[in-house]
Amino acid sequence: MNFLTDRIKSLPISATLAMAAKARQLKQEGKDIISLSLGEPDFNTPEYIKEAAIKAIQENYNSYTSVNGYLELREAVCLKFKRDNKLEYTPNQVVVSTGAKQSIANVAQVLLNPGDEVLLPAPYWVSYSAIATLCEAKFVEIPSTIKTNFKITPEQLENAITPKTKMIFFNSPNNPSGSIYTETEYRALAKVLEKHPNIFILSDEIYEHINYGVKHFSFARIPSMYDRTITVNGVAKAFAMTGWRIGYIGAPKWIAKACNKMQGQITSGANCIAQRATITALTEPVSNIHYMVKEFRNRRDMMIKLLKEINGFEVNIPKGAFYVFPDISSYFGKTIKGHQINNASDFSMLLLEEANVATVTGDAFGAPTCIRISYAASEENLREAVKRIKAVLS
Ligand code: GLU
Repeated sequence: MNFLTDRIKSLPISATLAMAAKARQLKQEGKDIISLSLGEPDFNTPEYIKEAAIKAIQENYNSYTSVNGYLELREAVCLKFKRDNKLEYTPNQVVVSTGAKQSIANVAQVLLNPGDEVLLPAPYWVSYSAIATLCEAKFVEIPSTIKTNFKITPEQLENAITPKTKMIFFNSPNNPSGSIYTETEYRALAKVLEKHPNIFILSDEIYEHINYGVKHFSFARIPSMYDRTITVNGVAKAFAMTGWRIGYIGAPKWIAKACNKMQGQITSGANCIAQRATITALTEPVSNIHYMVKEFRNRRDMMIKLLKEINGFEVNIPKGAFYVFPDISSYFGKTIKGHQINNASDFSMLLLEEANVATVTGDAFGAPTCIRISYAASEENLREAVKRIKAVLS
């Protein structure tokens, strides 16, 4: 073990994937676990997308693609950006990668030097901090609580900026809180960033389509932000294609070129069949996937109602994504079924061990008073999970 680098030794394990693995293992051991840990649609990839992949195999798409992705796919990404986001990108501003996670890692690798500061409005997705750490950058949390619907203010942003600030990782709809910033809120944050022209914005919009009514907006829509924003998206969440591993960016040409160079030395590009399927996913009407969004919305409504009935759970109404992020700090200092609850990790372990329900601790997202519950699961499992949680806590 001592042969391992300091880099990997200091890297935290992904809390979302670790909890999902633990739930899987317990299931294999015969335990009746309900896993609400992973943010993964429980739907299958739609038939028309699967057919595009099958056709691609039959048509012998099997060679290396351009490192930044098939031109046809990058054109489809540009059309999508224009259609859904009113953003103008050309194919040489687009890089297709092995999931949005790799897109983000590429951007971090090409823009962050050791010692640079990265702003993370909290709560934030677990891998942002780890990706910044891998670049030897320092991540700086900007905290928020359920009282502000887990959103930060322009004043907070201003106060967090130092001469070393290089980037902000921004994510709306947000994982884990489900919060969505409105256009007005975006513009207010942009006003602050306008005063600091050397700060880059990574705008992670992977949950764009899992939205229950707040109009989606993009940082790059604001002309003063366009030249320093990297818009990240992918097909995993909206098209139930998590395992296909396709993400992409739209960015200034010089950043896209650098990401292309990075990727050329690391992966040579994303899987060719998944790329062909993504062309279909992006060019067919978005209305094709509305049945999933509708179902997620029903489940959200049900979960909010059920969780509100649990004493000690403080719940807000997430406007997008497929997570609820209750504040459970009222349990801190209590002992439940022999478990001393001092923090959100203790609480999440209590639910796993006593209720057989897997969730993710808020600590991993920079929100130590909360836990994340994914409702990308069947209604039956969600009802049963809440019933079990209630029983343990009553
Ligand atoms: N993004 C999903 C989640 O937060 C998938 C797991 C991961 O990559 O973290 O659960």
